[in-house]
Amino acid sequence: MEAGSEPKNLVSEEVGTAPDNAESKESEKSASKSGSEDGCDDEAGSSHKNLVDSLGHFLKDKLHIGGDKAEKKKKVLPEKSLEAVVKYIEEKKVTKIITMAGAGISTSAGIPDFRSPKTGLYNNLAKYDLPHPHAIFELDFFHKNPKPFFVLAKELFPGSFKPTVSHYFIRMLYDKGILLRHYTQNIDTLERVSGVPGEKIVEAHGTFFTSHCLECELGYDLDWMKEKIFADEIPKCISCGGVVKPDIVFFGENLPSRFFRCVEKDFDECELLIIMGTSLVVQPFASLVDRVGSKIPRLLLNREKAGTANPVMRALGLSGGMDFSSDSNRDVAWLGDCDDGCEALASAFGWADELKGLVAKEHELIEKEESKKGAVKGKI
Ligand SMILES: [Zn+2]
Repeated sequence: MEAGSEPKNLVSEEVGTAPDNAESKESEKSASKSGSEDGCDDEAGSSHKNLVDSLGHFLKDKLHIGGDKAEKKKKVLPEKSLEAVVKYIEEKKVTKIITMAGAGISTSAGIPDFRSPKTGLYNNLAKYDLPHPHAIFELDFFHKNPKPFFVLAKELFPGSFKPTVSHYFIRMLYDKGILLRHYTQNIDTLERVSGVPGEKIVEAHGTFFTSHCLECELGYDLDWMKEKIFADEIPKCISCGGVVKPDIVFFGENLPSRFFRCVEKDFDECELLIIMGTSLVVQPFASLVDRVGSKIPRLLLNREKAGTANPVMRALGLSGGMDFSSDSNRDVAWLGDCDDGCEALASAFGWADELKGLVAKEHELIEKEESKKGAVKGKI
């Protein structure tokens, strides 16, 4: 994939090098926890077991073992359109929608693609003599030299950006009581800023919203971190003096245990999957599309079709992924900018004006808040 040719996440594809490892370790971790408020705890504590189960279901489905062929031919949706998706939601009284998002939902907020040479972000880092650009998100390098990361973090810092139409569309799904969970690869916290409550969000690649000391694990909030970063200081723990790092997933780090806990619980219950602004290449995030039931519709809002299986593998009946050519009309692709897709979907619902109103109202509030802060700063 070319830099800049499509939306990218701030955490790049190499995050996907960790999942196998991450999954086994995380399932152990999640097993030792219990009683979280979001109901995402994994009682059995075995992601592997569930992976094997899903593989079993998948093969059974593909090989028609114990299945009804006539039922397989039944169309999931009457046609591949947004209108058909909305009709499905209304007729089936769907209340458990999962949304999955990538950098495409944040591009219109002006969040730069840190991997694109065009943004010039790396120019500022040249003086730090990085062994390679991605070293900035490698834990080993960070331990030796955290400075370049914090220089970049200052430029990318959340709080300087406004949520997009796509974010507010997700918020609307929540307001209407039909959002089961939002899974995001983004670390910009814009879902939270848009008003989706934290328990409804799974930040698969971590977040800037919280930070922890790498030595004693003491937690810090966004404002504390922001103050340090904007003062060009290396954030140091007030208790032990260790370096404090935002909770974004670096290469070589496990994905948050909450990701695995929520996946176990949510995807079996999911009634509709909406995939937004992601090219579905980062694992294990990308393979989540295969964890919903085989009759559950999946809608992709993206600049290009994504997540499709290798045709050879599909011919052998051995691969998952999206299949936009299937007669079942299970998978629907709406191609274009994610915000436009959300507006089109909102129109199909009859929510177009409501969405527009929500975006205008929320942006006005953010602007007022910013000008207040600006005025305070001005006085100092
Ligand atoms: Zn500490």
